[in-house]
Amino acid sequence: MTFAVHGIAVSSGVAIGRAVLVASSRLDVAHYFVEPEQVPAEIARVRSARDAVVAELGRVQQTLQELNAKEGHVELAALLDVHLMMLQDEQLTEGVKHWIVDRRYNAEWALITQLELVARQFDEMEDPYLRERKADLEQVVERLLRVMRGVTSPVAQPPAPSRKAQQDLLLDDTIDVPLVLVAHDLSPADMLQFKQSVFAGFVTDVGGKTSHTAIVARSMDIPAVVGARSASQTVKQDDWVIIDGDAGVVIVDPSPIILAEYGFKQRQSQVERERLNRLRNTPAVTLDGQKVELLANIEQPSDTRSALNAGAVGVGLFRSEFLFMGRQGNLPGEEEQYRAYVAAVEGMQGLPVTIRTVDVGADKPLDRSARSGDDHLNPALGLRAIRWSLAEPTMFLTQLRAILRAAAHGPVHLLIPMLAHVHEIRQTLALIDKARGQLNAKGQAYGPVKVGAMIEVPAAALMVNVFLKYFDYLSIGTNDLIQYTLAIDRVDESVAHLYDPMHPAVLQLMAGTIAAGHAEGKTVSVCGEMAGDVAMTKLLLGLGLRSFSMHPSQILAVKQQVLRSDTAKLRVLADAALAAEDPAVVLAG
Ligand code: PEP
Ligand code: MG
Repeated sequence: MTFAVHGIAVSSGVAIGRAVLVASSRLDVAHYFVEPEQVPAEIARVRSARDAVVAELGRVQQTLQELNAKEGHVELAALLDVHLMMLQDEQLTEGVKHWIVDRRYNAEWALITQLELVARQFDEMEDPYLRERKADLEQVVERLLRVMRGVTSPVAQPPAPSRKAQQDLLLDDTIDVPLVLVAHDLSPADMLQFKQSVFAGFVTDVGGKTSHTAIVARSMDIPAVVGARSASQTVKQDDWVIIDGDAGVVIVDPSPIILAEYGFKQRQSQVERERLNRLRNTPAVTLDGQKVELLANIEQPSDTRSALNAGAVGVGLFRSEFLFMGRQGNLPGEEEQYRAYVAAVEGMQGLPVTIRTVDVGADKPLDRSARSGDDHLNPALGLRAIRWSLAEPTMFLTQLRAILRAAAHGPVHLLIPMLAHVHEIRQTLALIDKARGQLNAKGQAYGPVKVGAMIEVPAAALMVNVFLKYFDYLSIGTNDLIQYTLAIDRVDESVAHLYDPMHPAVLQLMAGTIAAGHAEGKTVSVCGEMAGDVAMTKLLLGLGLRSFSMHPSQILAVKQQVLRSDTAKLRVLADAALAAEDPAVVLAG
């Protein structure tokens, strides 16, 4: 039966595919693709775990039989029989094999995928006794997973799903079904794992428009819906699903008519993309001759390829924290970071690369197990970004040295996140000097860098003149500026409706920052999600903004807006919006 789940549209386009539910079970297991040659080993792991559990239950049964004579544990014995039967059930074993062979899931993933499929059949049973057997099945699978956990996988779990395995999956014509990811929640690090993966779209129960998970989805340029609340419970493993990333709707089990309609929409958006591609080499200049800089936001050095393909004139934000995440506390050393930054610099072929120092915390925990939210009441107000860096000077100096050294290979700008206090500014600049001193002492080469500050807390916007005294340029992080100005958590879908980029207070802070920066002859960019939102381009141009940084996938659509704009007219519009109680009404009219 067709039904729809509503959420928040975060990455446009239409994806149609079969649902892959990740960690939707209470059994949280690793999910990764295995290489074709590893398939037999994975099947063998499941088989030997099953044999071990059968033997284990057999032993318990034996003990029970001995006790039975005296105490009569009849019910328990019957339960064990059920478990043994389930373990040897064809549907479970063949199903698991199917996920490993046909989809190349690792054994644990295959097991819980099959568990969910069978559990669904139990849910649909009329007989309450049979329905309750689902709990037995879960126990059986839990036992199997426990044994498998104890038995090291011959397939070492990779830090990220193997690219090769994923590419093989794409190339393999036995697997021609597009897959879409459905999960309760995905951390930004999880998302990064799925980058360049086989998934055509994704849906999560939680998250807001500018949660980092949504941001990574946008950077992957695949349709996505977040904040879909119950999606991971209502969508079942392997259901056909349509993700409408423009409307924020997920359609489950669509009828042929709906499928045809969305198939058409999908083709249309492909045509639109091809049309936009023609603007790739057109300079971004407005109708009245104003040059506009369109830069790329990246998460990893390899993203520079899509930045160049989209015609970006540089990287306006390299979120370096993605190098630090999901490493179980093993932070990248100076050499590893240096190599990554050099790769980004070389990738941009002489165009500038803005490297933001590490911004972990809040919804970007270092590790999944160490979700900041678990430890702190208000993680977004806690030890994140520059606060963490200043609290860990050795780590920070390591990163600064790596960035300064990479600057010897091409133009690099250094960007500092979340500053609010002048003492933080002074401390940061002193550490940059110290890093240079350390490199001098070691006789290591380094290059010049422009140093910029992010304006992402209201305090910074209100004391912008102090910032301008210390920094070469500014970059407005609207995602956080909106969060902190309006006091709403950017990852909390229950307050997502209050996340308003056009709130007068936000616009005033932005306008003030842009004007103050320009008065000092300094560049001011916007690198938050607002910069890549075509509905905001005219307003931002009207506010005087001439430097935008966004995901490569958004650059051409924003360029199209720029090419159609007359900034003199837009200045009048922006002034009216700034003076209005409800700027959205002015802008719409
Ligand atoms: C922002 O806050 O707007 C920004 C660009 O930084 P991040 O989204 O990584 O917090
Ligand atoms: Mg930010």
